[in-house]
Amino acid sequence: MKQLPAATVRLLSSSQIITSVVSVVKELIENSLDAGATSIDVKLENYGFDKIEVRDNGEGIKADDAPVMAMKYYTSKISSHEDLENLTTYGFRGEALGSICCVAEVLITTRTAADNFSTQYVLDGSGHIISQKPSHLGQGTTVTALRLFKNLPVRKQFYSTAKKCKEEIKKVQDLLINYGILKPDVRIVFVHNKIGDSTKRLFHPRNVCFLNMKMSKTCSFPLKSSQFSNIFHLLF
Ligand code: ADP
Ligand code: MG
Repeated sequence: MKQLPAATVRLLSSSQIITSVVSVVKELIENSLDAGATSIDVKLENYGFDKIEVRDNGEGIKADDAPVMAMKYYTSKISSHEDLENLTTYGFRGEALGSICCVAEVLITTRTAADNFSTQYVLDGSGHIISQKPSHLGQGTTVTALRLFKNLPVRKQFYSTAKKCKEEIKKVQDLLINYGILKPDVRIVFVHNKIGDSTKRLFHPRNVCFLNMKMSKTCSFPLKSSQFSNIFHLLF
């Protein structure tokens, strides 16, 4: 027997945490909610395999924390396991950003209320900052994950059929509807662009709209019973 190289262990453990497009979106949305965001924009390109972007208007990440924000097991949410008793956040393991860096190319643009401008950080596969530059975005955080699973051909292969890709988009939609219902004061917008198609959906449980630009179709709350049963099925 031989011990696996550290880089292989890292890749294997990251691929257990980040298993799909929807798991990236889930982790990023939860970080945005933990940061107190009231507005979250989710953008996918090519079913999320070219680009996943989640933008929020939350508290942002302090410049002092940036060097460790994507280092595994660094978190601002707990200091020791005793804090789990009073946990009020979705995240606490400090694994998500580091795991996403391991299986995709990651950019993080962030600005706190105390900052004069936002900063865009480019991260490497270990979550270290490679470069940084000033940016124009307002308060909050935008995480961009490019070329998901570029280094995991088996995982990519799993999503090689149109059917699997469409199923993945449906899972993202369902996830966002669930968060929309759980967090009625948060505005969540979902945009998916693939070649020849542009689909935009806006979820707000107080006045939920599904805007489909391609089909020019709009429907709003109250949802049809079939849509409700689908949502409740997913929630419980
Ligand atoms: P966890 O959520 O378990 O702490 P993550 O890897 O998801 O771990 O995030 C690491 C840290 O980066 C978080 O603890 C938080 O301090 C910061 N962070 C990540 N995403 C955001 C965001 N959207 N807004 C503000 N801070 C964030
Ligand atoms: Mg998290």
